[in-house]
Amino acid sequence: MHVVIERTSPTPIYLQISQQLRQSILDGEPPSGAKLPPERRLAKLLGVNRTTIVNAYRELAADGLISGQVGRGTVVIFGARDADAAADVTAWPRVNGQHPLDNGASTLDGDFNDGSTRSRQSSVPWAQLFTAVTDVMDDPLLRDAMTVSARPDVIRLATGIPAPELYPIDAIRQIFDQALDNAGSTLLQHTPTEGYPPLREQLAGWMERQAAIAGASVVVEPNQIVVVAGSQQGLYLLARTLIDPGDLVAVESPTYLGAAQVFRAAGARLMPIPIDGDGMQVDLLQDLLPRRRPKLIYTLPTFQNPSGTVMAMGRRLRLLDLAARYQIPVIEDDPYGALRYDGRALPTLATIDRAEGRGNVIYLSTVSKMLFPGFRIGWISGVKPVIEQVTLMKQLVDLDTNALAQRAVCAFFERGLLDEHLALVNRVYPQRRDRMLEALRQRAGDLISANRPDGGIYLWCRLNEGIRVRDLLPEAAREGVIFAPGESFHVDAASGRGRFDIRLNFTLPNDSELDEGIRRLSVAIQRLADRLDPAAHASATRPLTPIV
Ligand code: PMP
Repeated sequence: MHVVIERTSPTPIYLQISQQLRQSILDGEPPSGAKLPPERRLAKLLGVNRTTIVNAYRELAADGLISGQVGRGTVVIFGARDADAAADVTAWPRVNGQHPLDNGASTLDGDFNDGSTRSRQSSVPWAQLFTAVTDVMDDPLLRDAMTVSARPDVIRLATGIPAPELYPIDAIRQIFDQALDNAGSTLLQHTPTEGYPPLREQLAGWMERQAAIAGASVVVEPNQIVVVAGSQQGLYLLARTLIDPGDLVAVESPTYLGAAQVFRAAGARLMPIPIDGDGMQVDLLQDLLPRRRPKLIYTLPTFQNPSGTVMAMGRRLRLLDLAARYQIPVIEDDPYGALRYDGRALPTLATIDRAEGRGNVIYLSTVSKMLFPGFRIGWISGVKPVIEQVTLMKQLVDLDTNALAQRAVCAFFERGLLDEHLALVNRVYPQRRDRMLEALRQRAGDLISANRPDGGIYLWCRLNEGIRVRDLLPEAAREGVIFAPGESFHVDAASGRGRFDIRLNFTLPNDSELDEGIRRLSVAIQRLADRLDPAAHASATRPLTPIV
């Protein structure tokens, strides 16, 4: 559910909100039976007065789309099935202001009070029909963050997107023109499911060069590569290929939430392994392996999302030894490895594994963070049986990856444009990282601490003084800034881990947005700190563990 407020629009804000909610409800999202956020909370998230939301909800109630009930909050009472029939709900005949399908009842009750199974207007019990997969996406904190993120007045520090003003648009235009002129009719057909062959060659060569930069030597064959529609699709294909319901998957804690969701959607149970400043605590994994045999180990050893940590070389070697000893495959997710600003590159797990003649690591990367996410081009590299299975799975999903985008990415590699672009962003991004760190230090240095990652695009920060992220989020929304909540990166939600952590992206905002974003965030943090009751404060204050 996204609501965008146009403050310069002549349409009153309450009507803007009700109109957008109305459209979403007609589109079936949120579905009948779903609860809308409480008025006070939505008001905070959207940065408006509570009365504005009260008025917006009144409009929707008058349209017969929602109903307020004591003890249950505001519930959608209109099913997606009716959207066509009710293209204009306001025009529906009304009896004394009541919806004719209400059967005289003024609130949901009887058949409809289970809140999930039936809508008054649809005979199909939609909520019962959806697969369990959508449940794994249900993270209220993240949903709130996404709602706030859609506001045009909000500075987005939550999303991991490369700096848009640096996108090489002229080069892309030229590449597309040339490709369409030279090969338009073939380009607009299918490519092999495994990917456009010259791109597979380029990607194999890129992996070899990256290994060389890290002082290692490895041979990667093009047939060890499958091009995928972003590494998110790669994760999905791997999950569908390797995970049966009930399988255990070891993941770092915190970890990339998009991967955790995909694994859960495939029916996996997740086994969190905490990280420290040197990445996954492999000794803890080692202790668990004899008792709990995971089917897979998923790791982000280089500039981990969200924490920015790099797995130390010793741990890389031990992890690979364990994987070999227990015959467990490792998925190495590496979107950020080439975004390095300081320090020396370590060889990837895949490189070390292959150099030792093994094939236990499945490597995953993408151009989304090096270049931009819009092409949706990523790749998987692994041994032949893995590549074959993933290719079969990909055939089921989308046959092949967008040919034009593959050509364009291939040209970027062939012409050295990717290296040029990386040289540029690797100059700009550390300046932004340091600018953000300095702004945080100056404005809220006593209330928040942050790491200084050698690469990647995020700061991982810990709030001091018992300031909880779930309290900060609505305050920050009110100020007009949004971040990624730490709890969402932990797979054991009940543990309370991440309650005081936030992830800030420093590449999407330009310098002035970054300064203003941190100013707003600091105001919100300061306000919460001021409000803390000294007794609660004392009990909530924990020893500060530096996040390095
Ligand atoms: N893996 C990690 C660790 C990520 O951070 C992301 C993007 N945030 C992805 C995979 C997905 O990237 P994409 O699908 O754009 O390639």
